[in-house]
Amino acid sequence: MQPRPPLKPLNEALAQLLAGAMPLSASETVATLEADGRVLAQDVVSELHVPPQDNSSMDGYALRCSDVIQIGTALPQSQRIAAGMAAQPLADGSLARIFTGAPLPPGADAVVMQEDCTVLDASDGARPQVRVNVLPQHGQWIRRAGEDVGRGDRVLSHGTRLGPAELGQAAGVGMDSLRVLCRPRVALFSTGDELVMPGACPPAAMPPGAIYNSNRFFLASLLRRLGCDVSDLGIVPDQRAATVEALRSAAQGHDLILTSGGVSVGEEDHIKPAVQALGSLDLWQIAIKPGKPFAHGRIGQAHFVGLPGNPVSSFVTFLLLVRPLLLRLQGVADAGLHGVPTRADFDWSRPDKRQEFLRVRRNVQGGLDLYPNQSSGVLTSLVWGDGLVNVPPGQAIARGDTVPYTAFAELLV
Ligand code: AMP
Ligand code: MG
Repeated sequence: MQPRPPLKPLNEALAQLLAGAMPLSASETVATLEADGRVLAQDVVSELHVPPQDNSSMDGYALRCSDVIQIGTALPQSQRIAAGMAAQPLADGSLARIFTGAPLPPGADAVVMQEDCTVLDASDGARPQVRVNVLPQHGQWIRRAGEDVGRGDRVLSHGTRLGPAELGQAAGVGMDSLRVLCRPRVALFSTGDELVMPGACPPAAMPPGAIYNSNRFFLASLLRRLGCDVSDLGIVPDQRAATVEALRSAAQGHDLILTSGGVSVGEEDHIKPAVQALGSLDLWQIAIKPGKPFAHGRIGQAHFVGLPGNPVSSFVTFLLLVRPLLLRLQGVADAGLHGVPTRADFDWSRPDKRQEFLRVRRNVQGGLDLYPNQSSGVLTSLVWGDGLVNVPPGQAIARGDTVPYTAFAELLV
């Protein structure tokens, strides 16, 4: 028997995987309303000031401070300006009724809120007089033109993943459509003769040895959350010819082929010879738990990644390796798994030689609880947990230790 190759550290595997991946270049124009989750393929530069002009941030009265040098001064109201109206220059010695968002009349240098003013009776038919019960400060309650965005400012950069705030920002500078990268096209399939699709067979009638295909469902969901266009190609039987055929057709028109299962070196693991027959393949044993077997390579123009079959291994290796790869393909800078220092409210006294990713959940005391069964087949640990603790090789954890915690929520947007 050949000696086992040494396990590859995760950071080495990740660096190698990313080194072989260039950002995809195809882009398309979509309506800003439809651009949530997409990656910008342009800079967005503002052609105007936001806000476009000085305006009031209160309902009240716009005036000149020099007209109110004494508390209790009364001034005539010379105009009324609501949001959306144009303002006239402020007549000397007067004030203007003004509402939030309305443009400041030229000449005014402060707004006094209405709670600090008293409207005096104008029974003699004269213009209403308003008494100002405070000493106004220069500039108060005024939002200045361009204080948010200046004309010519770049408000969003190429490679930005668009979320709610970015869409609002783009719309706020007048963009009704945006140039975005085309979604990475991903072919997904599962391998394993034991797999049955939910719906194909009721639970009571499952044949001996059969299990439902759960990986397909979470992998499709993970891919879509990362902005991919997923071709779900179902289950490939554990046969060499069928596997080669499935991979050959998937390589057409996809940027990535993602499989789960069949990457160990058992007799029933056909991914390795099939990919080698069509392109190139590296089969790695990565020093992580859950995880370990991981295959990557190329078939034609398509990247190939083979994840382990055990559901938790598949899920975690996706987050650790496939997610950064997909972000790279989309030109998005990835901050990586930067754990937040958090208190462990558990003991972990049997550390592994491999780097471990424990499924944990935050408790109301701000600490972390550990799911009792950390086995790589136990999907319940992912449902119960809300994140991962990254444990260096061979390191034990004692209750009260500070450990690096990454929430799933941070990785799945
Ligand atoms: P493999 O990597 O193909 O040797 O599979 C390892 C383990 O994961 C086996 O117990 C498989 O039955 C299980 N497994 C593989 N693929 C899936 C899947 N799509 N859904 C659920 N379990 C799977
Ligand atoms: Mg298998």
